[in-house]
Order: sequence, then structure tokens, then C-alpha cells
Amino acid sequence: MDADVAIIGTGTMGSMAAWQIARRGVSVIAFDQYAPGHDRSGAGGESRIFRTAYKEGSKYVPLLLRARELWRELEAATGVPLLTLNGGLMIGRDTLPGMVNVLATVEQFGLDHEILSPAQVIERFPVHQLDPGEIALLDKAAGYLKPELAVLTAAAEAERRGARILRYTAIRDIEADANGVTVYSDNRSWRVGKLLVTAGAWTRNLLVNSVDDHEVVRIVLGWYVPKRPELFTPEAFPIFIRENDEIDFCGWPMINGTSVKIGRNGSHGVYPDAESVERWVDPAWMVRWKRMVERYLPELHPHPVRIGVYMDGWTDSGDPFIGAQPELPNTFSMYGFSGHGFKMAPALGEIAADLVTGVTPAFDLAPFAIPPGRSTSSVPRQMFMP
Ligand SMILES: Cc1cc2nc3c(=O)[nH]c(=O)nc-3n(C[C@H](O)[C@H](O)[C@H](O)COP(=O)(O)OP(=O)(O)OC[C@H]3O[C@@H](n4cnc5c(N)ncnc54)[C@H](O)[C@@H]3O)c2cc1C
Repeated sequence: MDADVAIIGTGTMGSMAAWQIARRGVSVIAFDQYAPGHDRSGAGGESRIFRTAYKEGSKYVPLLLRARELWRELEAATGVPLLTLNGGLMIGRDTLPGMVNVLATVEQFGLDHEILSPAQVIERFPVHQLDPGEIALLDKAAGYLKPELAVLTAAAEAERRGARILRYTAIRDIEADANGVTVYSDNRSWRVGKLLVTAGAWTRNLLVNSVDDHEVVRIVLGWYVPKRPELFTPEAFPIFIRENDEIDFCGWPMINGTSVKIGRNGSHGVYPDAESVERWVDPAWMVRWKRMVERYLPELHPHPVRIGVYMDGWTDSGDPFIGAQPELPNTFSMYGFSGHGFKMAPALGEIAADLVTGVTPAFDLAPFAIPPGRSTSSVPRQMFMP
């Protein structure tokens, strides 16, 4: 055996899993086709929202609360600041399904929050102007993470604890049997006891089962320069999500010294595989975004100074798949985080460590079970031979 556990993909989930597995003293070898912290996948673009009043539903809240503890543990272990809790505004009508969930989760879990009237919003956060009938819920335990730095830091901490990370090493095929798993790169193989696949939008290339379950989705982000920077500092401008009949978008404060990042929630295009995701952005998009910025954030210059294209694996329900991989013995996977997985990554790393070491996770994973496979093996190796 080359290690007890192998991980394919040392991105968001894989880096956290490597850290959590290594800290248990279990030998782990993790592969990435690039290097942990790269920005070509789900983890690029400078910032990720962390929030606990969760529009996606209460089943996530225990994971989020555990993730917050583990983010702090990673910071304490490494001395690297990763999570800034500057608050989060959830803006919309209280009848929207997402807002109904937000209000339900704060009640159910006693989350620290305030509900603000339009007048209170103008007084405290003057760049937002609410429309009639809208409310803003201030999630006090929300804020932002630094994704590239977080992945790099978790990977470094995993290595410090003995994990082996093989950079620029793409895994092309998997053979799993009752005694273990063999993974193949272009020029060699490794034999391990258990395998974790955390390949993000590339999962479809590795696990035939995953092809029908989820899609590769492109997400575009834009960076806009404030007219008055003091209105957009982290202290003055919490992260926000705003939804109404015409838009569903989110934003981060000015953390890079010059610009505020804006994203539109949801898919910006579906692609057959990760490599075919279009990196070019049609200027027509930016004209549409200009109207959104002028209407909702008039204190920003309405043309972006930077645009970035990223991707994530997406499921119909928006819920990820987590658990044992059907028809591949000794193999587990996590994929389809549908644009909201980053904040909970350390908790998922802990779950991954439980799964590969035979410990029952402390969370209810039933809503995330991987459906029975429609295929009997991984992708035939010859499909990927150069
Ligand atoms: C633009 C954007 C904004 C987002 N905003 C938020 C947010 O604000 N808050 C939030 O919580 N979530 C957010 N998300 C979602 C979150 O970032 C993703 O759900 C999460 O990063 C996915 O993690 P992952 O580990 O599945 O994939 P990734 O982080 O993409 O990791 C997959 C890794 O696998 C590697 N890999 C793939 N195939 C192979 C192979 N064959 N061999 C070796 N290595 C391989 C890749 O190189 C990559 O490093 C956002 C996503 C995007 C794209």
C-alpha cells in the first residue's frame, strides 16, 4: 500500500479532507492536476461568503456551525487569518422561499441576528435602498473567507502533519476492489486502502455515476470600484444577498483595497465538461450587469475593472452528493456543491475523514446520499490515454 487513503482533487474539499485525515495520524496521499490554491476551479475569485441564516434550508445549519469552529481551528493552527465575520445582509420580501428559510433557520437555531426596516437599513448601511415590502435580516455570524489562501493553508497544514500532496498530477482512472483502490496517473499507479474523490466540476471525468447527477456550471464575477470607498469597507458594508422578481445577486466589501466584488446567483451557462467552460465574457453581459449596479448599488462605478470566470458542479436540487460511491468499493466522493459549498468545507473535510476511517459522521447525510449508480465501473482508462 502506498497510503491508507488517497484523495483525487486537492481543491476546496480535498485540502480540508487532507488536513482532517492527516491530523488523525492516518497516512494520506492527495493529488491535484494543478496545485492547491490555484484559481481555475471552484475556489477562485478572492472571496467566498460565509453565512449561517441559510436560505438553502435548515439541514445545513449544523454543518455551518461546525465549519465555523473548524475555520477558527485552522486559523489557530497556522496563524493565517481566513474568516472575517463582518455580518451579512439578506435582503428581500419575507415571502420569498429563500427568505422564509432564512427566517426559519434563525428561529430554529437561535442564530444571532437583527431584522431591519428600510429606514434602519438606510441609516446603518446607506448604499442599500430597500424597495417597498422588503426586509433585511442581518446575520451577525456572516462574513467572508479567502478561498485561494484557505485551500493553500489547509494543504500546507496537511503536509505539516504528514500528508503527501502530489501537485500537477492528474489522476486518469480508478480501479476499486474489495481490498482497496488503485489510482492511475499518465505514468504510474498508487495502491491505497480507501479513496476520496473531491474533483469538483471535473468529477464527471472520473466517476461515470456522477454524469447523470450533476452538471458543470460556469459562474462569472465582476469587480466594481466605489465612488466613495469609505462606504464599502468591511466595517461599513457587510456581505449581502439580495433577491427580488428581477434579480438575485450578492456582493462582498472592498477587501482588496480598490474594488467591490459582485456576483449574480445561479448558473451562467452549463457545459459538458470542465475543460470546455468558456472563459471569455460577452460584453452584453456587462451591459446587463451595469443596469443592475446602477439600479441597486449606485455608489459603485457601473463598469467592472475586473471580470473572472469560475465553475462548480451543480445538481438539480442544489444539494451536493456526499458518501460512499455506488459500485466502487472503498470509494467515497463529494461533489455538486452548486455554488454554496465553500463556507462548509472544513466540516465536510471532517466528514470525509470519518467516512474513510470507518467512523459514523455526526451529521445527517441522508439528504446528500449518492444515488445508485447507472454504471458499473469508473471511466475506462483508454478514454483518457493521450
Ligand atoms: C464563482 C463562485 C462563487 C462562489 N461563491 C461561494 C460563496 O460565496 N460561498 C460558498 O460557500 N460557496 C461559494 N461557491 C461554491 C464553492 O466555491 C464550491 O462549491 C467549492 O469550491 C467546490 O469545491 P470542490 O472541492 O468540490 O471543487 P474544487 O475546489 O474545484 O476542487 C476540485 C479540485 O480537483 C482537482 N482535480 C480535478 N480533477 C482532477 C484529477 N483528475 N486529478 C487530480 N486533480 C483533479 C482540481 O484541480 C481542483 O483543485 C462559489 C463557487 C464559485 C465558482
